[in-house]
Amino acid sequence: MADHRPTSAPAWIDMHVHSTCSVDGSSRIIDYARRAAHLGLTHVGFCEHVDLDPRDRGCHHLDLQTYDREMVAGRAVSAAVQLCQGIEMTYQSSLEEEIHGWLTERSWEYVVLSVHLVDYVDGWAIVSEPEAMADYFATHSQRQAYLPYFEELLQAVRSGLGDVLGHLDLIKRYGTIPYGSFEPTMFEDEIRAVLRAAVESGMGLEINTSGLRQTPGEPYPALTVLHWYREAGGEVLTVGSDAHHVRELGAGIAEGLDLACAAGFRALAVFGPRPVRWIDI
Ligand SMILES: [Zn+2]
Ligand SMILES: [Zn+2]
Repeated sequence: MADHRPTSAPAWIDMHVHSTCSVDGSSRIIDYARRAAHLGLTHVGFCEHVDLDPRDRGCHHLDLQTYDREMVAGRAVSAAVQLCQGIEMTYQSSLEEEIHGWLTERSWEYVVLSVHLVDYVDGWAIVSEPEAMADYFATHSQRQAYLPYFEELLQAVRSGLGDVLGHLDLIKRYGTIPYGSFEPTMFEDEIRAVLRAAVESGMGLEINTSGLRQTPGEPYPALTVLHWYREAGGEVLTVGSDAHHVRELGAGIAEGLDLACAAGFRALAVFGPRPVRWIDI
């Protein structure tokens, strides 16, 4: 993990962080703010989980008053670190109306839209729960397990309900255990369709570096998909660690910036008070 800002990378940002406001976060916003100031990060984006499906243990967990209060305390730590207040909304095509309704109740500095729960024809599973995924993978081919995920992802992008699509190929998190390393060309048509739809709807992409710390050993997504996004005309790209503890803040960001450069991007999107702004890399 690169601990301090590399001199070659002016964009030193982490746009995907979870605090104790999320069901699975274990550090407070104020602790992230202090750590960010220490690391020299210029922007930290909080995207606390919002899950509207009762099958998800985080369902209706987010307390908006607490979130607002903790942001105020965090923002008081350092003028050099801009804290952005967003959410990570779990997208489900079956809940589109509820999601839309929830989002219209107030505005957010940005919304990361992510697929976490897949409804298969013969069951359902939460992509980040290893036991459930292992059970499903054990009796299905990679294609059977991954295709419904990418189909749901396409619906997510078409819905236009977010600013950024979260961790595009998260399905590989535990899928690489039974199926081996993820080869995007096996799902090239499906992924390119998602990327085209993202460009059409104006939804951005993130390089989620948590995959570097997890089984795949590469971000969500990795270089091939970033190239495809660029080829499709994609411009809105950001980077985030998906930290759930303050020690993970900034983890893998330097690698993420290198990948963005390698794929031909020259600036990353940061969010805060709208509109989107850009930081050279
Ligand atoms: Zn997520
Ligand atoms: Zn997240």
